[in-house]
Amino acid sequence: MNIIDDNKPNITPISSFGEFKLIDRLTKNFKCQNKQTIMGIGDDCAVLEEKDNFKLISTDMLVEGVHFDLSYTPLKHLGYKSIAVNISDICAMNGVPTQVTVSIAVSNRFSVEALDELYSGIKLACEKYNIDLVGGDTTSSLSGLVISVSILGQVKKSKITYRKGANVNDLLVVTGDLGAAYFGLQILQREKEIFKDNPTIQPDLTGHDYALQRQLRPEPPSKYLKILDELSIVPTSMIDISDGLSSEALHISKSSKVGVCLHEEKIPIDYTVMNMAAEFKLNPIAFALSGGEDYELLFTISQKDYDKIKKDPDFTIVGYVTDMSEGNSFIASDGSSHKLTAQGWDSTK
Ligand code: ADP
Ligand code: MG
Repeated sequence: MNIIDDNKPNITPISSFGEFKLIDRLTKNFKCQNKQTIMGIGDDCAVLEEKDNFKLISTDMLVEGVHFDLSYTPLKHLGYKSIAVNISDICAMNGVPTQVTVSIAVSNRFSVEALDELYSGIKLACEKYNIDLVGGDTTSSLSGLVISVSILGQVKKSKITYRKGANVNDLLVVTGDLGAAYFGLQILQREKEIFKDNPTIQPDLTGHDYALQRQLRPEPPSKYLKILDELSIVPTSMIDISDGLSSEALHISKSSKVGVCLHEEKIPIDYTVMNMAAEFKLNPIAFALSGGEDYELLFTISQKDYDKIKKDPDFTIVGYVTDMSEGNSFIASDGSSHKLTAQGWDSTK
């Protein structure tokens, strides 16, 4: 049955809305009524009042065929990733994860042993990041596997970092390097196509360990928060990089009511990704800007904190914050200035 009747007026196909426009529309009439709800929809986590701390809560769903392909995703890695991506949202608020609930919808095609594998990855991530699995839900699915994880965390009130705190002249900083996860996905998809055409050919994944690990079994950016804490830096704003650097920079711009300016030549790319991108004739900057799934952090700091991080290779200054009236810009390596868009940058403007 097609639930969209073309003859009826006022029926809008979902495809005409982007994800963020859809969320805005569905949630715009909801107002928080409890005074403990400090932040509802609109950041990486919801924030709830609790004595000296804030409680953080976030949820993320992974759907087979949309977020993962089981023909090349080991279930153990998938379990690990499902926890890692949720921890990343807690990190984006400068928080520490504490508990998760895990809900799965699963079809008969899975064996108990396969689900054991999934849960062994979940356990590994929970142990590594000191998180308790405290519940969930299990149900059947007529199509693929769905994994929905909700995570709780906490942060000292003085350390909470929203998307909305960036100030004009702040520096824009990213952790680690970008683009590798998307590159890993390209490799896996390419090998899958080759295998489909000729099942006797073994996949050639040699030399791509880093990109594949970043795609299949990402680590959340927890270690960087420890370093920031040791340096006594509380970012003025922060977001995790799940959808690509450009999209996340635009979220900070919108929430903080500022402009952002990104410099192409500053964007950190791992050397193995640089080399392979050249070989494949692909642009690694496009991977960083709009590839997604890097699970690094993008944050802003006051210029007075510059000296504290300038020598630390964990952090790279990729741009700065401007007045909102200046818009969002991307300075290409040749010095030309362009409009920054969610997909990357607009070469015509
Ligand atoms: P992230 O990429 O950090 O996981 P999202 O872009 O998925 O965040 O979501 C942005 C905001 O919208 C978050 O505050 C999230 O909780 C909220 N949100 C997303 N989907 C829904 C929904 N279906 N109903 C209510 N709130 C939602
Ligand atoms: Mg997020």
